Amino acid sequence: MPIPATSSLGFRTAAVHAGEYPDPATGASAPNLVMSSTFVTRDAIGFSAHDLDDRSGFLYSRWSNPTVAQLEAKLCALEGAEACLCFGSGMAAVSGLVLSLLAAGDHIVMSDTNYAGVAELARDTLPRLGVQVSLADCSDPANVAAAIRPNTRLVWLETPANPIVRLTDIAAVAAVAAEHPGVRVAVDSTFATPVATRPLELGAHYVMHSLTKYVGGHGDAMGGAILGSREDVAALRLEAAIHYGGVLSPFNAWLIMRGAATLPIRMRAHEENALAVARFLEDHPAVTRVVYPGLPSHPQHDLARRQMRNFSGMLTFQTERGPAMAERLAKELRVVHYAVSLGHHRSLIFWIDTPDLMESSFRLAGAQLESYRAYAGDGVFRMSVGLEDPEDVCRDLDRVLGSG
Ligand SMILES: *Cc1c(COP(=O)(O)O)cnc(C)c1O
Repeated sequence: MPIPATSSLGFRTAAVHAGEYPDPATGASAPNLVMSSTFVTRDAIGFSAHDLDDRSGFLYSRWSNPTVAQLEAKLCALEGAEACLCFGSGMAAVSGLVLSLLAAGDHIVMSDTNYAGVAELARDTLPRLGVQVSLADCSDPANVAAAIRPNTRLVWLETPANPIVRLTDIAAVAAVAAEHPGVRVAVDSTFATPVATRPLELGAHYVMHSLTKYVGGHGDAMGGAILGSREDVAALRLEAAIHYGGVLSPFNAWLIMRGAATLPIRMRAHEENALAVARFLEDHPAVTRVVYPGLPSHPQHDLARRQMRNFSGMLTFQTERGPAMAERLAKELRVVHYAVSLGHHRSLIFWIDTPDLMESSFRLAGAQLESYRAYAGDGVFRMSVGLEDPEDVCRDLDRVLGSG
């Protein structure tokens, strides 16, 4: 039998064992990969998803699949959640949740700084469907309080926020939302991972992960997840998995499950390496600014210490003439890959130009643009520090950064 998502196990033990069990037929210690799309049933049950309940066996892999279910159980143990639903990508998880919770005439308050795909969903897709969207700088909970309306259904946070690693105080925002019955809080916790922060314990109703990043951890499988209460996730499964259909492949679930088993020890190493690289960059003559939650110079370092048990591996830095430096880094780095994405064992870096991002995705003005620029200036190098020897990463950067 699977080990249940129980708090009696240590976190690292849960990462290794939760959701896994020796195969009852063969004794296999490692999880099986069950690719079957359909399952032979003995009970002649109905064909509609409405006929299923928690005790129904497997029927069809868009509804649920044994390998995906094992990953879901492991993620529940890590997040301290009752239930989990996996998706084919992080964006499928986001759109699955948002579209299933909101209807025309509803209102969502969303962080004005977040993953670009989510930012564009909020600015383009949701208004087209008649959903009202307010973008707020959620790093100040007062901005969330001011944005909530009678028809607000959801507050969407991302902390640390992509790409500038600005933080949101989840407990403070959840307390604001709790004053308004019917307002749910969802947190994109991809940068933090459950090793750093468990949003459900801080008052959020949903937590979302791009499994493509730290949870999978090896850059070879896309996936996404939403975790929450049993009731909320059952409703989500009916709507988003069964009706929208963007479910996770069992093969990807199997790869991500292998990655998730080492998440706690990998995050420890990501943090250690990121701190070493951040300190090196802070002392580098070509670097004008480093932003990393684990550095005392981060504007919200106190919140980071309170809310993050691990500072993760994401940092940004700035140099003079960023676009020209980006060209040099793209051509000349050897150890660090110049590529988007993050959370992999390989170090990744990418230039994120402020004017470009504002035009393509964020479209901020006034105080919100100023708040963004206070972290990012004209642009940042967003770096995901990997699991290499940090000395090699620093040497690689040093060789290309030169003296500025
Ligand atoms: C990558 C990412 C997403 C989207 O996930 P995909 O797996 O690429 O679809 C959402 N939020 C954050 C913070 C991300 O980094």
